[in-house]
Amino acid sequence: MTSAKLKTFGQQMKRRSWAEPWKIKAVEPIRMITKEQRARALQEAGYNTFLLRSADVYIDLLTDSGTSAMSDRQWAGIMLGDEAYAGSNNFYRLEQAVQDYYGYKHMVPTHQGRGAEHLLSQTVIKPGQYVPGNMYFTTTRLHQELAGGTFIDVITDQAHDPEDLHPFKGNIDLEKLGTLVEKVGAENIAYISLAGTVNMAGGQPVSMENLRELRGFCTRHGIRIFLDATRMVENAYFIQQREEGYADKTIAEILKEFCSMTDGAWMSAKKDNLVNIGGWLAVNDYELFDALRNLVVVYEGLHTYGGMAGRDMEALAIGIEEAVQDDHVRSRVGQVLYLGELLLDWEIPIVKPIGGHAIFLNARGFYPHIPQDQFPAQVLTAQLYLDSGVRGMERGNVSAGRDPKTGDHRYPALELTRLAIPRRVYTQAHMDVVAEAVKIVYDNRQQTTGLKMVYEPKDLRFFQARFEPLD
Ligand SMILES: *Cc1c(COP(=O)(O)O)cnc(C)c1O
Repeated sequence: MTSAKLKTFGQQMKRRSWAEPWKIKAVEPIRMITKEQRARALQEAGYNTFLLRSADVYIDLLTDSGTSAMSDRQWAGIMLGDEAYAGSNNFYRLEQAVQDYYGYKHMVPTHQGRGAEHLLSQTVIKPGQYVPGNMYFTTTRLHQELAGGTFIDVITDQAHDPEDLHPFKGNIDLEKLGTLVEKVGAENIAYISLAGTVNMAGGQPVSMENLRELRGFCTRHGIRIFLDATRMVENAYFIQQREEGYADKTIAEILKEFCSMTDGAWMSAKKDNLVNIGGWLAVNDYELFDALRNLVVVYEGLHTYGGMAGRDMEALAIGIEEAVQDDHVRSRVGQVLYLGELLLDWEIPIVKPIGGHAIFLNARGFYPHIPQDQFPAQVLTAQLYLDSGVRGMERGNVSAGRDPKTGDHRYPALELTRLAIPRRVYTQAHMDVVAEAVKIVYDNRQQTTGLKMVYEPKDLRFFQARFEPLD
């Protein structure tokens, strides 16, 4: 090239791309069935994407839970499974990884996140107590209720507004919390249920500053803070990117600093920790640990495996280490941002700012003409599958369930369809296909009609509820 040419080449190259910090070693074929087949599959599934067969799905964005691709190191770790009933090597590796990266003293393994939620809720909630938190999560709240607690949402109001651009919409509103504590008394607060990136708010993070203030408040009132650490690594990334003073810290440093201000954490390792199954519960207080270790034997398995095979614990220990690497987290969240920014460019209504693990389509923005008791987000989720074989999930009135006191739908402010991106699984081309599918469904929004629920399970109804179209 001549020097003049080199110069223009250099100018064109101003924008530098980054790429995934891995290459692909094994592939799993996927295929798209015909539109007629999809229509039949959807009808058979009662218009609920949870009831579809995965073979009928093209790009599966139902969840980022247990859907990660494991690394070659993790697969090698599988061969190192020590399947001793008690005291497996892999347990000690896992315990060490949790201590090293999350910083808690004691760890109890569980089969997945809800196993840990069950143990914690049964151990630390006294019937009649309140559990304030930054927006509910389905299984978390149910375990708190089953233990006799009442969940109280004390998240900042901004979290309920999908247009609000606040960088930390997962924050706890300390005024709301203060009012509650004044009203019911600190002794009637079981603990603070704090989630790192709030799933139901659109994957929105909590700031270090907010936790620092919360810690101060809780220490003054003698209240413990337990962290839902399921997506805390992604939360740490947002702190690094958005909060003053953290740009030069590593994800691992931020994670540890955050956890150090809490009393313990539960984990669905199927998310951040890059495994297909697993979970853990970690606390600093030895007496509490002892109680949890006694209970795990009843519900999960011995305290050195908690429902996991030795090989699963090994893959998890390795996954914890891989999960906190800065280049991994950047590419993981970066892929979510890539999809979200495409949709924003096309002015499609999504929750802003874009969250860490998923894009949340704002179904109210698609279907202002469909009332909430005709489940607009369920409609949108079904339409997207029908158009393109892309599977998302409803996060609106169906997921919110019924109020146990009044028996009526909860009618949440947010009516969302979640497109969760599995970690290390899909390419940028898949994201392009998804974005175009959403655009087509959006363009056809005016002709779309609502659904009626024809079967409703009592608990966590979104998993198995069935619907029929209204015409
Ligand atoms: C998935 C999830 C859980 C429950 O974990 P499971 O492993 O699915 O049992 C709890 N909290 C949050 C925020 C989750 O996303």
